[in-house]
Amino acid sequence: MRAIRYAGERQAVCYERADPRPAANEVLIQMKAAGICGSDLHVYRHPGPDFLEGQRVPGHEPAGVIAEIGAEVRGWSVGDRVTTYFRQVCGTCEYCRSGHTNVCINRRGSYGVGLGTLDGGHAEYMVVEAQYLFKVPDDFSVEDGAIVACQGGTAYYPLTRLAPSGEVLVVSGLGPVGLLATLFGSRMGAEVVGIDPSPQRRDLAERLGAQRTFDPSAGPIGEQVRAHYPVGVHKLLEASGAPAAHAAIPELLRPLGMAALVGLGNTELKLSLGAVVHRELVLFGTSIFPASQYQEMWEFFRRHTIAPSQVVTHRFGLEQGAEAFQLADRATTGKVCFAFDR
Ligand SMILES: [Zn+2]
Ligand SMILES: [Zn+2]
Repeated sequence: MRAIRYAGERQAVCYERADPRPAANEVLIQMKAAGICGSDLHVYRHPGPDFLEGQRVPGHEPAGVIAEIGAEVRGWSVGDRVTTYFRQVCGTCEYCRSGHTNVCINRRGSYGVGLGTLDGGHAEYMVVEAQYLFKVPDDFSVEDGAIVACQGGTAYYPLTRLAPSGEVLVVSGLGPVGLLATLFGSRMGAEVVGIDPSPQRRDLAERLGAQRTFDPSAGPIGEQVRAHYPVGVHKLLEASGAPAAHAAIPELLRPLGMAALVGLGNTELKLSLGAVVHRELVLFGTSIFPASQYQEMWEFFRRHTIAPSQVVTHRFGLEQGAEAFQLADRATTGKVCFAFDR
């Protein structure tokens, strides 16, 4: 099969390797769509030895059809349209049992990115333990399934905690997660304000539902936003991970305001402690989504006649892997996806 590997910093290569075979508790997925995520880009920029020497297949937003089923797998059939929960979780800790699988305290590994990485979805085939499969609903595309598997859930879940209906929501960073948060937040009834230096991304956000957008490179972002919202905004979703965006959070939020921290572009969080304390701001971290929320997301999309693939702007074949990663790395587009039936 064809697959992507990293040959060095910022070097993605498409090459031939052996097809994987499913173990007794696994299925083989024939890929139909696979997204490139910001987390993939962190690895693409600085791949570790597991990706370089180990030739680990990247990609944790896979979706396709089941091509083969392990001997012990029940409840799935060849041809089923599926995506995956890319983190291998224990299923028995107090967090897994209460539905919060995303903060499982006994994580075993991940498909395509992060801790204990297993081969991911930037390949024609991928094996996955059957317990991590999700069915893609018949009324949505397989590509929608790929996007929900990471970035869709990463945008939707913190919004359910922010509950921005009837309020002003700043989305800081309009990459794919920020664009999805714009789409979902506006349908939740928030007045969405987008912030990003890329004019293309601001334009996309306005088409997806942002009321207005701001360019942080055009002047102090706090002043720009406060010209429209003098007291500040109620809620904020930080998807850029940029130090300047973190520092701006207390300037953007009104007293008692709340911010979800999603972006991981930087290793440290630095902002005014005095502003957080005296204005009683609430900040919380958020990491992908609990598996228990998967069905609820599709119901939300149906109710609002939206699809997560609305944020996809570029599709590439696997053989165009170098070009696809270079474009995603430029941070000026919507979602970049691999498409396998081209
Ligand atoms: Zn991701
Ligand atoms: Zn667990």
